[in-house]
Amino acid sequence: MPDDCLFCRLVAGEIPATIVRETDDTVAFRDIAPKAPVHVLVVPRAHHADVGSLAAADPALASAVVAEAAEVARAEGVGDGWRLVFNTGASVGQTVFHVHAHVLGGGRIEGL
Ligand code: AMP
Ligand code: ZN
Repeated sequence: MPDDCLFCRLVAGEIPATIVRETDDTVAFRDIAPKAPVHVLVVPRAHHADVGSLAAADPALASAVVAEAAEVARAEGVGDGWRLVFNTGASVGQTVFHVHAHVLGGGRIEGL
């Protein structure tokens, strides 16, 4: 694991987070600066930079992240209407280069 990766450190428990669900392969935690009433990030424990490289390297893990996002939406009470966003690349605003699914719900999300 890259020691300078924020989300590897969070998964390792070195950085505090409000964890909402965990599986053997994934961790889901609240975004520190929420953009919607429900804003949870789902990450694989294993380090992959973005969703494309995750899907190429480990399709089963990519699927597990998406399935877990659906579980989070249900658990957060927005299972009937939610959005899944994977920013890919600095040019569209990816700031943490450990793949993370944004689970967004609970109302309209401005700008999307
Ligand atoms: P992105 O812009 O897609 O790379 O998303 C990174 C997200 O991580 C942003 O929505 C940040 O608010 C969020 N974030 C950054 N640091 C933390 C942290 N320590 N705990 C929870 N969320 C974080
Ligand atoms: Zn990482």
